[in-house]
Parts: sequence; structure tokens; C-alpha cells
Amino acid sequence: PIILGLESSCDETAAALVRRCDDGGVEVLAERIASQDDKHAAFGGVVPEIAARAHVERMDGLIKEVMEEARLDWKDLSGVAATSGPGLIGGVLVGLMTGKAISLAHDLPFMGINHLEGHALSPRLTGQVEFPYLLLLVSGGHCQFLMVKGVGDYERLGSTIDDAPGEAFDKTAKIMALGFPGGPAVERWAKQGNAEAIDLPRPLLNRKDTLDMSFAGLKTAVRRAVELEPVNDKRKADICASFQLAVADILSTRTRQAMDIFRERINAERPHFVVAGGVAANQTLRFRLEADAKEAGFAFASPPMRWCTDNAAMIALAGLERYLLGQFDPLDVSARARWPLDGKAAVNSPASG
Ligand code: ATP
Ligand code: MG
Ligand code: FE
Repeated sequence: PIILGLESSCDETAAALVRRCDDGGVEVLAERIASQDDKHAAFGGVVPEIAARAHVERMDGLIKEVMEEARLDWKDLSGVAATSGPGLIGGVLVGLMTGKAISLAHDLPFMGINHLEGHALSPRLTGQVEFPYLLLLVSGGHCQFLMVKGVGDYERLGSTIDDAPGEAFDKTAKIMALGFPGGPAVERWAKQGNAEAIDLPRPLLNRKDTLDMSFAGLKTAVRRAVELEPVNDKRKADICASFQLAVADILSTRTRQAMDIFRERINAERPHFVVAGGVAANQTLRFRLEADAKEAGFAFASPPMRWCTDNAAMIALAGLERYLLGQFDPLDVSARARWPLDGKAAVNSPASG
């Protein structure tokens, strides 16, 4: 089967075609990601109205391109999947409406996908990760540990109680005018800096009885450090490096605890620990978590960088996995601004929303 996947929940417009191979693996036949970074850069953050309009302008063209590149006709498709939340509602609607229209016009099954389920299943695009696995989903809007027991079967073990790390990266970059999106800019600056130079807080880390995380105080502390003395290039780099280390310390500490909990619950010799979501594109963080996994006897996996940040291949994959289970959605599923990924919450239903 071949599934078309659409993504438009934030500021990337994306379309992808994913096929299930005879050997059980998956193949991404074609994919396009149109970033809107240039449109939002001047504002230092995503402007919902601008995002929605850009999705409208680009979505149809991207679909045409992937269909042409894969040399496919509508009749070659088995189904259509589109992100139906969570995200900026105006943007979500664009992909969702487009997906429903294609489904209706060409008589194809439709799957409304939770964007977080896309991130959660993204490591399976490369084919090596089996259920159950421990997932750290760390992105622009989320930070949580999940037990991924199967398609649609997720259990949240712990999460941030305030901001997401991606948000903290973006704010840190904005405070020092390093550019947008903030994550890659902070990572670049951090390379030249001394991570021990500035003492930043690790909120909640003295508590070992919880997987709660907090990043809001970190952002405030960065602001204070910036105001304390003139920010030359050296200090910028030091702040970035110190900030990145603080985030890594928090995620690393909680990861070790989450691994212990996972082990208590699931009996597996060498289970997978997966880190996915936009912030997983950070190399320093990846290496740190990979080392943690190694020490704790977990196999480490993380999608390639282009599938960490928002993309449609992960949405098409989630659609494919649901298609194979016969889990189709009616065409009246609604777009959802909020939609936690927990338990059966990932299964779409027209009544909720
Ligand atoms: P969510 O998936 O939670 O709804 P989102 O879709 O906006 O949020 P993603 O696209 O998964 O988030 O991730 C974007 C975030 O990842 C941004 O905050 C961005 O700054 C951050 N990010 C991207 N690359 C890096 C990097 N190299 N280092 C740190 N952060 C990064
Ligand atoms: Mg983006
Ligand atoms: Fe995302």
C-alpha cells in the first residue's frame, strides 16, 4: 500500500508518499517540505495568520510535485493521511481539508493523524525500531516521556510542567537576536562557547520522585544573564553553551529515571530508547542521550534530522500504520488545537474536538 501524508500544523508545509514494502519495511517514495522560516523571521516567532495563508498557497503544489516525482496516479494510492491536530488551528485546517477533499474525490480511505503520533512513530521510518520502546518527544511545543507499546497505544510517563525545550531555545535566540528558528542558531553559537561559564538553574532536578520537567525558569535566567553585562560575541556563545548544557542536564537526568521506570514495567533485554521531535536535531543533546542509553543498556535510535523537525513522511507513516490496522476516520473529523497523546486519545473521533 501507498499512503499520501500531509502536514501543516505549524510553519512547515509538507507532503510525502510512503510505501510499505513486501519485506515489511517502509520506503519514502517522495517528500517535500516548504519551510516558512523566511516569512516569520522578522517576528522572531510563528505568526498564525501568515502561516495559514502560506499553507494554502503551497500545499497543492507540493502534492503535485510528490505525485509527479513518484510517477503515481491517484488510483495508485491506498489512502490519505493528514495532521488533524494539535497545532495552530488555521494551519491544521488547510492540510485536513485538502486531505479530505482528495479522499472524497478519489474514493480513498482517510486517516486523521495526531501530529505527536507522527513524531512518536518517526523512528520507524528507518525500519529498525520495534515496539515497545521508550520515547522522549522533545519539540517546539512538547516535552514528554512515552511508553510506545504499539500503534495507538501510548502511555505518558512524565512531561514538562511549563514550556517546551524548543520554545526555550527559540526564546533564548530571540533575547539575543540570533535568528529564527532559534534551535539551530543557539546550537551554532554554543559550539564556540564555554558551557561552564554561566550558572543557570536546573529547576526540579533535586526531586528524584518525579519525571516532571520545567524550562520556563531557564528562559528567565537567560534574560537575566543577558541584562547583567554587555553581550559581546564571547558572552553570547557562553550563554548559548551554558543554556544548552542546562537543557541537556535536565533531559539526561530524567531520561535515566524514565529508563528505570520502563525497565520495571517491561521485560526486555535491550529495549530501544528513542528521541524524536525538533529538538532531537541538536547534536550535543543526541550524543549525551546516546551515551545515557549505552550506559543503561538501551539501544539508541533517533530519526535523521530532517525527520526530527516537522515533516510529512512521519504523518504518512502514521497513516500507513493505521491503514494496515483498518483504522480509518470519517470525513467529519474536526481539527483540534489541543490533542494530548495518551492512551486511546490518539484514536480520532468526530465527537471530541
Ligand atoms: P510540536 O511538534 O510540539 O507540535 P513543532 O511542530 O513546532 O511543535 P518541531 O517542528 O517538532 O516543533 O520542532 C521545532 C522546534 O525544534 C523549534 O523550537 C526549534 O527551535 C527546535 N529545534 C530545531 N532544530 C534544533 C536544534 N538543532 N537544536 C535545538 N532545537 C532545535
Ligand atoms: Mg518550523
Ligand atoms: Fe512537530
